[in-house]
Amino acid sequence: MTTRNRLNRSWVPFVASIMAGFVAAVIVITAGIGIAGDAGAREAEPKPVGQSQPGQSQPGHVKKESAMQNDEPQAAKNPAVAGRVPDDQLPKSDVEWKKRLTNEQFQVARQKGTERAFTGKYWDSKKKGTYRCVCCGEPLFKSGEKFDSGCGWPSFSKPLEDKKIAEHLDLSLGMRRTEVTCKRCGAHLGHVFDDGPPPTGLRYCINSASLVFDEE
Ligand SMILES: [Zn+2]
Repeated sequence: MTTRNRLNRSWVPFVASIMAGFVAAVIVITAGIGIAGDAGAREAEPKPVGQSQPGQSQPGHVKKESAMQNDEPQAAKNPAVAGRVPDDQLPKSDVEWKKRLTNEQFQVARQKGTERAFTGKYWDSKKKGTYRCVCCGEPLFKSGEKFDSGCGWPSFSKPLEDKKIAEHLDLSLGMRRTEVTCKRCGAHLGHVFDDGPPPTGLRYCINSASLVFDEE
C-alpha cells in the first residue's frame, strides 16, 4: 500500500462526516419551517367575538389586493344584482362566473376567499332588508337576524331558511371549521361558529362580497 492510498482513504471518514452534518442541518431547517408554519396557522385562528382587529384576515383565505381593482365594470353585468337568476341562466363554469362577478366577488364566492375584516360593504350595515346570494340571487339572510358581532364581517344568527344553506367541514390551515355555501349555486359564503347570540347560539360569519342587499 502506498502512502498516497493511505492518504486517500483517510479522507473518506472526513467527507462522510461533512455530508452527515449537511444532512442534519437540512433536517433541522426543514423542521423549523414546519413549526413556523403551524404557529402561523394557529395565530390565524378566529378570535372570540369582539376581539378582532381591523385588517385582520379570516383564516383559511388569502385575498390579493389586486383583486380589488376593476370591480365596478363587471358588477354591471351580474343579473343577480337585480334579482333571483333563473336556473337555466346560471353559469356552469368559472370562466362564465368570472364574466359576471367583480374580481373580489369571484375570489370570495367561487374561490373560497375572504374579504379583509371591516372592509366589506355590509359588515356594519343596520338597514332593513334581505341579503341575497351575489351569484344566483337567492334570498339567504334577513336584516332581522343580523347582529353586531364585532368581527368585521356581516354576522347573522340564522339563515332565512336552513335549506338554503349548505354546510361543509373545512379542515384547511389545520383548523376545524364549518364552511357555509349557497345551496343553490355553491357560492362560498363564509363560516358558521357556535359563539352567536341566543336562541340559536350561532354566528353565520358571511362575506359582504358574497351578498347583494335589497333594502325594504
Ligand atoms: Zn347562490
